[in-house]
Amino acid sequence: MTSIAVAFEDAYGHAPTGVWSAPGRVNLIGEHTDYNHGYVLPFAIDRRTWAAVGTRDDRTLRLRSTFADAEVTASLDALSPEGMDGWSAYVLGVAWAMGEAGIDLSHATGLDILIDSEVPVGAGLSSSAALECAVGQAFSDLWGLDLDALSLARIGRVAENRAVGAPTGLLDQAASMLGREDHAVFLDCDTEQARPVALHLREESLQILVMNSHVDHEHATGGYGARFASCERGARTLGVTTLREVTPEGLDDARAQLDEETFRRVRHVVTENQRVLDTVAALSAKGPRAIGELMNASQASMRDDFEITVPEIDLACDTAVAHGAVGARMTGGGFGGSAIAVVPASAADDIAAAVTSALALAGLREPTIFTVVPSQGARRDS
Ligand code: ADP
Ligand code: MG
Repeated sequence: MTSIAVAFEDAYGHAPTGVWSAPGRVNLIGEHTDYNHGYVLPFAIDRRTWAAVGTRDDRTLRLRSTFADAEVTASLDALSPEGMDGWSAYVLGVAWAMGEAGIDLSHATGLDILIDSEVPVGAGLSSSAALECAVGQAFSDLWGLDLDALSLARIGRVAENRAVGAPTGLLDQAASMLGREDHAVFLDCDTEQARPVALHLREESLQILVMNSHVDHEHATGGYGARFASCERGARTLGVTTLREVTPEGLDDARAQLDEETFRRVRHVVTENQRVLDTVAALSAKGPRAIGELMNASQASMRDDFEITVPEIDLACDTAVAHGAVGARMTGGGFGGSAIAVVPASAADDIAAAVTSALALAGLREPTIFTVVPSQGARRDS
């Protein structure tokens, strides 16, 4: 038995029916473009959240996590986002969102659920989507719903938006559901069409470093919501439904209609969309060494135009590039979290050491630096 199955039996006194897992994600490029109906290019990472789940013969959901002390219980007959808070909202929210999507849960059985995870929380690696997607896949299988990966991603997003209250797009859940080994997921957030894009990291002897700043971010209440509001305001003033409709060529016109700050917010989204398309093209035509400049330009745009980076992230990226990284940029919603660097495998240790000492010299918080490998999305493990 796996260790989570043992822990489940200790907690609930019976064996789980199965174990499911879903990964965290790193966004290679395309930040704050998802809720603007643009493009993103994330990949699933080799750090996962597990859900051991056992069926019950009533309509009760019992939830535990190795991350929290208290057990949470809820009835499948009385799920509402208003009654959800804390970490259990991510799990209960998924069940509620299935009902909202018109799925009939009137015959669904109650479940005992134990969560364990190796995705660091609040590091910008989307432990939230990993949790939603692991339980979403488990619910779908155990309740015989047969939902496809994209439907489960959408359900996870509704849970995050409505039960948790974070106005995030589909990026995180799409990556966690659709990830494949050595591939990124190219997602058009307008049509919600997704396709895998080969990264060819191994052939090129490249690795991806994650540099966790340990500066905490708070999506539901922090600057994320303010940026969301800026984008809405920009779109409204420009008379478009979403910023997806604004092209790089249209930016000169936009400048005349917007206040200076809103213009910079809009310019980030518009140029970032183009950078995602250029990255996909560069990966197919020339391979991963050709995407460095696009990553660096994305980092500069997040720092100067969208203003969502912190000094720890900026210095980590600049130092990585100065020491031989192909490219480096913040990943995730911002205001802390993590940055990524595409690095030659042979230089990975030296680059990590250089970043750590540069941050120490500047009197900034010590980062945690580790490699991630593009990995498979949500699955049943046993
Ligand atoms: P992240 O960037 O990691 O997704 P979020 O703030 O979006 O950060 O989500 C983190 C929240 O997700 C945690 O505060 C917690 O409520 C929930 N969460 C993530 N992983 C777990 C876990 N293993 N067990 C319980 N709750 C979790
Ligand atoms: Mg999250």
